[in-house]
Amino acid sequence: MAVPVIETRGLSYRYEKEKVLEEINLTVPKGAFLGIVGPNGSGKSTLLKLILGLLDPQEGEICLFGKPIGSFSAWDKIGYVSQKANSFNSGFPATVEEVVLSGLTKKIGLFRFMRGSDREKVQKALESVGMAEFSRKNIGELSGGQQQRVFIARALVSDPELLILDEPTVGVDAKRVDVFYDMLETLNKEQGITLLLVTHDIGTISETVSHVACLNKYLHFHGEAGEFDELAEKGLSEIYGHGIHLLDHHHHEEAGR
Ligand code: ADP
Repeated sequence: MAVPVIETRGLSYRYEKEKVLEEINLTVPKGAFLGIVGPNGSGKSTLLKLILGLLDPQEGEICLFGKPIGSFSAWDKIGYVSQKANSFNSGFPATVEEVVLSGLTKKIGLFRFMRGSDREKVQKALESVGMAEFSRKNIGELSGGQQQRVFIARALVSDPELLILDEPTVGVDAKRVDVFYDMLETLNKEQGITLLLVTHDIGTISETVSHVACLNKYLHFHGEAGEFDELAEKGLSEIYGHGIHLLDHHHHEEAGR
């Protein structure tokens, strides 16, 4: 089997006294589209920070592309789109093209004119998220969902093999979430980019992803999306154990009180 893109073994993490991640064994195979789902406070951001090298593991191991994270240096293989990427206001003075180009500045230096080949890369990245015709628009004029696509293009412009997305549908119009997921599916299937998507939106995600990991301090489920659907039909308590309510259930209960 090919070397997994991400592999964690026995990974645990505590901020102060309380452990927020316990014994996480996660494998992301090359070419997978993995959705990590879990309620707020379940450790999703902490796990991402560990994978991105922003926090040091206290117990257990993380390997990226087969290398222990401590000696991993090929960070340009990993693209990351943060949760707050799509909140530019209308006055922000940058065009879509400039925002995407800034994804290349790590390599080319900030104050340099765009070469023809850079423009091609920028255009190709915008095409792959369906935003090519917006390249001259100001980023702040776009909707939240369009801005999110531009930031995905910014991450894609340096040709990553793995793209990590933190709650990418926040700020995307509910009616357009399906279209947004379709775009991610195309990136995964047609360009072969391994995707890791973190979300609390357990409802729609399993239709799109190939693999699901359910996190709530422990990894309660880690497997293929079809297997997840079968378990979810029996109720999420099968996955998360009893006494744990996901956000949507919680709201429902409160409404019924
Ligand atoms: P999620 O992304 O799933 O909402 P987090 O990883 O942000 O979960 O948080 C997991 C737990 O760790 C929560 O209980 C949160 O309050 C706690 N936590 C997160 N960041 C810190 C921090 N910097 N210091 C102390 N506790 C933290």
